[in-house]
Amino acid sequence: MTSFTGRILCVDLGNGTAESRSVPPEVYEAVLAGKGLEAWYLYKHIPAGADPLGPENILAFAAGALCGTGAFLTGRWTVACKSPLTGGWGDANCGGVFAPAIKQCGYDAIFVSGVSETPVYLFCDGKTAEVRDASAYWGLDATEAENALHADLDPVCRKKPCVACIGTAGEKLSLISGVCNEGGRIAARSGVGAVMGSKRLKAVVLAGARPMPCHDPEAVKALSKELGRKIVKMSLPSGFGGFFGLGGRMMGRMPAMPMDGSLAVYMFREWGTQANTPLAVTSGDGPIKNWGGTPKDARGLPPQYNPDKINKLETLKYHCYSCPIGCGGRLDLRGRRYAAYPETHKPEYETLESFGPLLLNKSLDSVLQINELLNRAGMDTISAGNTVAWAIECYENGLLTKEQTDGLELTWGNTEAILALVRKMVDREGFGDALADGVKRASERYGGKEYAMHIGGQEPGMHDARNDPQLGVHFVAEPAPGKHTVGMGMEYGAMSLCDICSWAPPATLHAKKKDREDTEEMALITKANACYTMLTDGAGGCLYGVMMGVHMWKLVDYLNAAEGWDYDGDHYMEIGERIQTLRQLFNVKQGVDPASFRLPRRMLGWPSLSSGPLKGVTLPQHRAQVSSHWRAFGWDEKTGVPLPETVKRLGIDRLTEVDV
Ligand code: SF4
Repeated sequence: MTSFTGRILCVDLGNGTAESRSVPPEVYEAVLAGKGLEAWYLYKHIPAGADPLGPENILAFAAGALCGTGAFLTGRWTVACKSPLTGGWGDANCGGVFAPAIKQCGYDAIFVSGVSETPVYLFCDGKTAEVRDASAYWGLDATEAENALHADLDPVCRKKPCVACIGTAGEKLSLISGVCNEGGRIAARSGVGAVMGSKRLKAVVLAGARPMPCHDPEAVKALSKELGRKIVKMSLPSGFGGFFGLGGRMMGRMPAMPMDGSLAVYMFREWGTQANTPLAVTSGDGPIKNWGGTPKDARGLPPQYNPDKINKLETLKYHCYSCPIGCGGRLDLRGRRYAAYPETHKPEYETLESFGPLLLNKSLDSVLQINELLNRAGMDTISAGNTVAWAIECYENGLLTKEQTDGLELTWGNTEAILALVRKMVDREGFGDALADGVKRASERYGGKEYAMHIGGQEPGMHDARNDPQLGVHFVAEPAPGKHTVGMGMEYGAMSLCDICSWAPPATLHAKKKDREDTEEMALITKANACYTMLTDGAGGCLYGVMMGVHMWKLVDYLNAAEGWDYDGDHYMEIGERIQTLRQLFNVKQGVDPASFRLPRRMLGWPSLSSGPLKGVTLPQHRAQVSSHWRAFGWDEKTGVPLPETVKRLGIDRLTEVDV
């Protein structure tokens, strides 16, 4: 027995059918489940040139290989499709309990094709799978829809169902919309919500109660016990959050170095990712003033985003499925300024940065409201923040008039105008309509392309390539460009990949400028980082497990125990390489030119910054680094197209012949 159910559910909304199909073991051996299974299926089944918002696009929901085995930090689910934002591979990832719900229905993944004429939802309880009328839920925001579905279905289901749904942004085909679960936790990137909206699929509701398989549950349990012991219950002194701004200033001056991954655990357990905000502003990691500012511009902001302030509002801490860390929380917003909503999820760093320092917005209260507004609408906060930043810079430079912005005074830090613009984007009203499709489309319509921060059509995550040049390589070499969850130099320092992989270089203490150089060592580091991240996604793991390092979160041992295999780290890294190569081949098949993904000039250091930790930093060897990364993968170093011998070496030619 392995951890795979061996079955997938294929739904055609064109005719309302749902069919269970079996997947042969060799597919799982090659790509695991999660994003790997999706990459294999979508590459094979979405025809070249398919309209991302048409019936030929397929929307996939998948759980990872380790989900349900008892392995810690393996409750993530991935939604994937052809992205309407980039025209190529698209995926987004979220936590909660939706991943085990897929498996408890007896499936590793659900693939949805076709377009329904009327709003529908998919219901599956492990015995039946059917497409049902969703007209009563269409028009509701994601939280309202989820609550309404629970009210209607909880009393008639044997087990409380899990719901993943779109909000109004997905219904309105916003190209920066995502898919939500658990009251607005969102798989946000790649425009996956627009694809779900185009299919008129409001929700997927899962209520199965089947057992989740595992080869050796006792061995998995022992590994989790060991990890639990290592995650020492440490509490940091109260008021520590106020020092993060200072810590960031120190980090900005320090060399790159190997780190102990348990530091990340302490931080995420205590505050969640939000703790990164003041640190990022002062260290050079977090973008300021549409990626063109310095910590001087953001003076006074770090204390506003002191993580202790946010923790004081916390009424509930929560965990994803099978996670001992619990970085999530609910905040009480009653009595706060702009309080249209009484509560919200604790915002992620990406959201705080996108609507705080990126816009020079000093109002934490406004960002908490925007967090709830966008989570309920199901709109990506990273993309929305980058788009608002573009609009402000255009307005400040006279490229947009007050008439064009519907009377909004879009100046840096104008909280009221920022809030009003976000509402317009959510409602697709007036000036907000074009912005609801992201910064590339908005700048094509209104001009100001020099201020439009995107890579291949997708807005970048809130981390600056000038501070982390390895991330700059991943931003453009990644088949879903602009994602920050696919490899960072900072993370590599904690991952210890050389302990499991014979070709992964060790992390060393070195001057940061070394990371800007094009060397074989750097190419192997970025390759190893990408392969391990893909392996993690195939396993359904959380990125914070990755950051702990392989000596704490023992992914290889977990997989061997759960599947009954006896493979070494090199073998598993090749699985990651195969998944990444399949995603790249998907882009090539869809006519996307990998070489067309470019870092915005500003992120390359032109013009260079005049102060702060990134003062004068440029990335002249960035393109050469990307070529070396492709070469390390066995892809053409000029075009980024996987070479035929690589496709053969990874067995992808045989894999794509498997018929399901
Ligand atoms: S660390 Fe946070 S995001 Fe990751 S699995 Fe745990 S609760 Fe979820």
